[in-house]
Amino acid sequence: MSKTDVYDLVIVGGGPGGLTAGIYAMRAALKTVLVEKGPAGGQIMLSDEVENWPGTERIGGAELAMNMANHAESYGLETRNQEVTAVEPGLDVHTVRLDSGESIAAYAVILSTGGSPRQLNIPGESEFYGKGVSYCAVCDGFFFRGKTVMVVGGGDSAVEEALYLAKLAKRVYIVHRRDELRASRILQQRAMNDRNIEILWNSVPVEIHAESGAVERVTLKDTQTGETRDMPVDGVFIFIGFQPNNTVVPAGVKLNAQGYAVTDAKCETDIPGIFAVGDLREKYARQIVTAAADGAVAALAAAHFVETKKATEADSCGLPAQ
Ligand code: NAP
Repeated sequence: MSKTDVYDLVIVGGGPGGLTAGIYAMRAALKTVLVEKGPAGGQIMLSDEVENWPGTERIGGAELAMNMANHAESYGLETRNQEVTAVEPGLDVHTVRLDSGESIAAYAVILSTGGSPRQLNIPGESEFYGKGVSYCAVCDGFFFRGKTVMVVGGGDSAVEEALYLAKLAKRVYIVHRRDELRASRILQQRAMNDRNIEILWNSVPVEIHAESGAVERVTLKDTQTGETRDMPVDGVFIFIGFQPNNTVVPAGVKLNAQGYAVTDAKCETDIPGIFAVGDLREKYARQIVTAAADGAVAALAAAHFVETKKATEADSCGLPAQ
């Protein structure tokens, strides 16, 4: 492989972290390609409205994703709509393998693969996915206009999505396993003040039933007494957190007990030139703004890494650095 075939940087994943990395990398004149298997935007595509992106009081998730993708494209960022199957670290260059069978060689790689919804793993959940079980209110809420739905979870996602569903559905039950929500105070207040929302405390679903082929009821267990009862509902929306998409993180990158990639302050992993950003990375707050910040940090650090690498290579060959 000639040196001209080698990219400076491959970004794996096109959520806010990956797209911001793309903007910063292009501005740093790195030869960069971003590989994303789905539409650009990652999880924000699933958000109805985003209210904490600084400078914009309120914006649709899909619109924000599109703005970020257009911004990166305006700098000429190359993107490939493919799935990455493996990232293989090398001494000189790293190799990113694609499902097409092709591979891309690069001095640096930024992993921005985000996370996926966590599942309850109860009977009926996977069987009736798409038949009343959903992990995305914005995608599926429309089908439940005037109906009764259950939202499982007590975090920001559950409450935000319950508020969205409350505008469409006849009744929304939030089922939470404790007697206090985890969500931010402002979201809690909105949910408490919404007449369409009722919170069922100290409860967990244990089975989803759909005798007719579409969800009809859910068996709930009281987490304090152990008693069970059936709630008739037409849909169940599950928002109980997510897990990092770490399947292409190469061996040698340290993961914490929950599977998040451990990095230093530059978002660099244990493997030189391999960075992890956004929801994949171990950190305190998983927000759009922190994913974007990670992307900026990683791209600037990658630019420095690539520059140093090329200068060292040129030195060893007695050539001027490219
Ligand atoms: P999360 O904050 O981890 O909340 C998960 C919720 O699900 C918790 O209430 C948890 O209960 C419950 N839960 C977990 N496992 C469960 C199980 N097996 N059965 C029943 N309930 C279960 O997840 P998230 O709401 O998806 O949020 C993830 C991150 O994104 C957070 O940092 C959040 O702040 C951020 N986020 C921010 C915004 C925003 O700022 N607008 C919007 C969405 C998400 P416990 O409380 O008892 O643990």
